Amino acid sequence: MSLWWSLIDHPEFASGPLDQEWDVAIIGGGFSGLWCAHHLITNDPNLKIAVIEQSTIGSGASGRNGGWASALYPIDDEKMLLHFSPEIVASLHAQLRESIDEIGAFAAAEKIDCDFQKGGSLLIARNEGQLSRLRSSVEEGSILLDENQTRARINMSGAIGSIFTPDCAAINPAALVTGLALSLERRGVSIFENSHASFSADKEIIVGDRTIKAHAVVRAVEAYHANTREQLPIYSLMVATQPLPEHLFEDLGIHNRETFAENAHLVTYAQRTADNRLAIGGRGAPYIWGSRRRESNETLTGIHEHIRVMARQWFPVLRDYQFTHAWGGAVAVTRDWAAYVRFDGKYGELGGYAGDGVTLAYLAAAAMADLVMKRETRRTKLPFINWKNPLWEKEPLRWLGVNAAIKLSEASDTEERFTGRPSFLMKMLAPITGQ
Ligand SMILES: Cc1cc2nc3c(=O)[nH]c(=O)nc-3n(C[C@H](O)[C@H](O)[C@H](O)COP(=O)(O)OP(=O)(O)OC[C@H]3O[C@@H](n4cnc5c(N)ncnc54)[C@H](O)[C@@H]3O)c2cc1C
Repeated sequence: MSLWWSLIDHPEFASGPLDQEWDVAIIGGGFSGLWCAHHLITNDPNLKIAVIEQSTIGSGASGRNGGWASALYPIDDEKMLLHFSPEIVASLHAQLRESIDEIGAFAAAEKIDCDFQKGGSLLIARNEGQLSRLRSSVEEGSILLDENQTRARINMSGAIGSIFTPDCAAINPAALVTGLALSLERRGVSIFENSHASFSADKEIIVGDRTIKAHAVVRAVEAYHANTREQLPIYSLMVATQPLPEHLFEDLGIHNRETFAENAHLVTYAQRTADNRLAIGGRGAPYIWGSRRRESNETLTGIHEHIRVMARQWFPVLRDYQFTHAWGGAVAVTRDWAAYVRFDGKYGELGGYAGDGVTLAYLAAAAMADLVMKRETRRTKLPFINWKNPLWEKEPLRWLGVNAAIKLSEASDTEERFTGRPSFLMKMLAPITGQ
């Protein structure tokens, strides 16, 4: 179980009968599905909406993630600019930044105690290679900090510089997703847990032995859409410490609960929680043949230990404290790393957030609600609208390429540590990763 779920209670949802006619049926009770219901019911309080969740609300990535509500988008501007105007790309970034504040305002208005704190985010260099890449990636709105300025914010061992961006909040994601679902229920949305949905040959939704009638259907299952060439489930694993004594933070810093990461090739991410733990995540779990999901990939002891070792290298004082939680989950990665929000007039699907879905799901869901309600807004002009992602390669190429990319990312980090220069291996990897 993720740390986040151990800190809150899971409520019961009283949903009523499922076999009635719905205006909109949403499959998946994570951030995508619930924010979609939120934007729909906000625009039209009379809509009859069902959220159909196979397990419990937030049991997918939404209740297990690193709790970064960031303005990150998984694909580079350079790639988007091949297809979209600079105005549209700028609008995407602006709307992501606004979305963080809208999530915070919503949580405050609904009194959702999800520890939302917008303290910004630090991307930290611990060797010259990492620093050189940082210097070339400073964007508008973020600032490059030297070693002393970095240490004034976070005393990470070996830190020699960082980029600070104000556009990130730390949250307890399970508390937010639960509070959101409760708010929806109060506003008349019906929430059905333990209800696995599938499609019949003529595309009707089947739950158990019932056929569900709906004017519009939205599939919001993200990395659960597996066994396909459309996207890969890639596993991300996390650990968390016991609550650390307040006095430790006089030395460690992180006073504004800035989220933070090392600028390594193999993704890392961390936050100081409201109860003074460090919750730290990383990639590195192998990709499973055929884009399959497997629960055992969420609890790989070797990867969890690797993250603990990394955390103690960052902060040697952690050797004296316990790690109390270890968990994991999958993110969906499309071939071009771009997210998608597609709607054909009756059926819709959204996802492909590649690990940046906390804020992006809010915005993507708002765009989906606009499409369902046939409203033209600035959201319906964004790059992910009706975007057709290319397919991943067939097996065994996919398995070989993705697992090689994961291993080579690790090797690139070692290369940078030793050479002090941006990794040459990583440049060779670009055609495989699409990044
Ligand atoms: C370990 C980890 C760390 C992460 N850290 C961050 C982070 O710090 N910041 C960030 O922005 N993003 C992060 N992410 C990604 C982010 O959590 C996801 O992008 C986001 O939560 C996706 O939300 P979702 O609602 O689309 O998917 P999910 O939360 O996975 O919800 C999909 C839901 O659909 C349900 N479902 C699936 N199939 C069916 C079916 N047939 N019938 C009914 N229900 C079904 C599932 O049970 C699930 O509850 C992380 C992800 C992981 C796994």
